This record gives sequence, structure tokens and C-alpha cells, in this order.
Amino acid sequence: MRYVVGVDIGATKTRVGLFKLDGELLKVVTATTPQEGSDEVVAHTVISQIFKLVSDPYREIAAIGVGTVGPIDIRRGDVVGAPNVRLKTFRLKAPIEEVMRVKTYVVNDCVAAVWGEYIVGAGRGFSNVVYVTLSTGIGCGVVVDDHLLLGKDGNAHEVGHVVIDCSGRFVCGCGSIGHWEGIASGANIPRTAATLAREWGGPDTEAYRKALEGSMTSEELFQYRSRSDVFADYLVNFLAEINAAGVASVVNIYDPEILSLGGSIALRNPGFIEVIARKTPKYTVNRMPKIVLTPLGENAVLIGAAAIALNTPLNLVKLQGS
Ligand SMILES: [Zn+2]
Repeated sequence: MRYVVGVDIGATKTRVGLFKLDGELLKVVTATTPQEGSDEVVAHTVISQIFKLVSDPYREIAAIGVGTVGPIDIRRGDVVGAPNVRLKTFRLKAPIEEVMRVKTYVVNDCVAAVWGEYIVGAGRGFSNVVYVTLSTGIGCGVVVDDHLLLGKDGNAHEVGHVVIDCSGRFVCGCGSIGHWEGIASGANIPRTAATLAREWGGPDTEAYRKALEGSMTSEELFQYRSRSDVFADYLVNFLAEINAAGVASVVNIYDPEILSLGGSIALRNPGFIEVIARKTPKYTVNRMPKIVLTPLGENAVLIGAAAIALNTPLNLVKLQGS
């Protein structure tokens, strides 16, 4: 029996999945993404997880696909200067190939996810597909005219850093101001909530006080909102507006037929996606695509990474070999 391995390296968790050659996901193991150590420590975490999945990987694994937090150096298959991982820079492709002795492809996590959508997910049968993740960060993957967009270093479409706001009140993790991710990503929601709380002239509510402390997580925000907290409702609406402006920018730039949303914030709050989809058309010039929650769920990157290994796009073969 031969398998492929799909790997999803997130800021906090690294998930490794075993797939049959027809794409069926058989098993997933999860490890903590190392935050310190040598520049090969993440690669070795991936390798040790693969050994948990199969008894004889040298005979059984046909290829490995990795979707990782970025930014990446796509020629080397390394991560360089990741803002959300303390290790920042670490090697992947070379150390994995060296130990596993099998072809390994490394792409940005959202690039993997959109390829998964295109091959087996919401984008199946479409030529123009966009995947957007609303999670710790905000990112996107794009297929235009059946072509997976990569960019010179593999970091095309860093849409989390499109400018949505010019008021100067919101500083992004990258250091610039007014970026989509700097306002609406999971990592930045506590700060956005605090900013809006300081400006709030409405009633003193539980969510308002929590926000003022600077400790409002996205999960808590949606819980408060489900309990009809008026400040939480205001904040969710504000974030939906920001996300709609971001999604509309993506639609205006790439003109997709279908745009799927994933990531923990989207997956936990399908109702939020509906609000975003309703608010998006007023910001678009292009004809609206279908906006859906990813059918691949929390496995979007994992399945996408396996799809990269199974149906490797030609432009990636050019960069990382065959
Ligand atoms: Zn930014």
C-alpha cells in the first residue's frame, strides 16, 4: 500500500495526515508547533509524526505535501520570518527530504488550501477559485484560469495586509497601519475590541468591560453576542464590515467564480459568514462570486497539502522539482 502525507503547519499546531492515493484521508496526528530550537526542529516534528502514522514510511510514502504558515522561500521550501511563530525562520523541504527520502513540496498554507478546494472541495469544476482564511491571521490562496498563483517567493496574495482603514487607529502585527488582518484577525481582535471600547458611548455591558481590559478573544466575543450583549453585537458588525471590505477587495482583484472561507473564526461562526457575504456586494465592482464556508472544514490545509503532493501544479514542479 502506498500513501501520501499532507502536513498543516500552523502557528500553534502541526497536523499530519495520511491519505490514500485516491485522496481519502485515513488518519491525522497532531503535535505542538515548536517555538524554539534549531532551524530543523519543525521538520523533525513533522518527521516524527509521520513515523506515528505508518510503520515503514520508506516503503509506504509516495510523496509529502506541506502547507505552512508563511512567508516562505518557495525555491528552498523554507519558512522565513513568520510573524506568528517565535522561531520565525525554519527549514522544511531539505531536512524532510533528507530523512524521508521522498519528494516533498512546501507551499504557503492558504495556497495549499485553495488547491484542495480546486481539486476536491468547493472549487471543483471551477477555473477561478479563491480561499480566504479568517483565523489567527488572514490569508488567501488563488487559482485563476486553472492556474495556481505562487509569486516570486511563493507569497503571492498576502491579502491580510490590504489596507481597509485609513483612520490610523489600528496597527497590524507587521507594523503598518489599517491592514485587514491588523483589525479582524484572531490575533488582533482583542486590540480592536479595546480600541472600539474606548470610543464606545453606549451602555456599560459585560463585553464592553472585557474589551476595555484588552482581553476579548474572538471566541468570547461571539459568546457575548449570542447572549445579546449590545457592545458585542456592535463589535461583530464592525468586524463583519471590515471582512466584507477585505473579501470585496479580493473579488475585485481576482474575479473568482467561487470564494470559500475557512479558518477557525469562519468555521466556528457560520452565521458570521452569511453577514459578511451580505455586506460584500456594496464594495465590489466585479460580478459577485458564490461565497461559501469551506466544505473541507478544519482539514482544508491538510487536504490541500495532500492535493499538492498528489496533483502537483506544474509551476510548483518547476520551482521544487519532480
Ligand atoms: Zn499588516
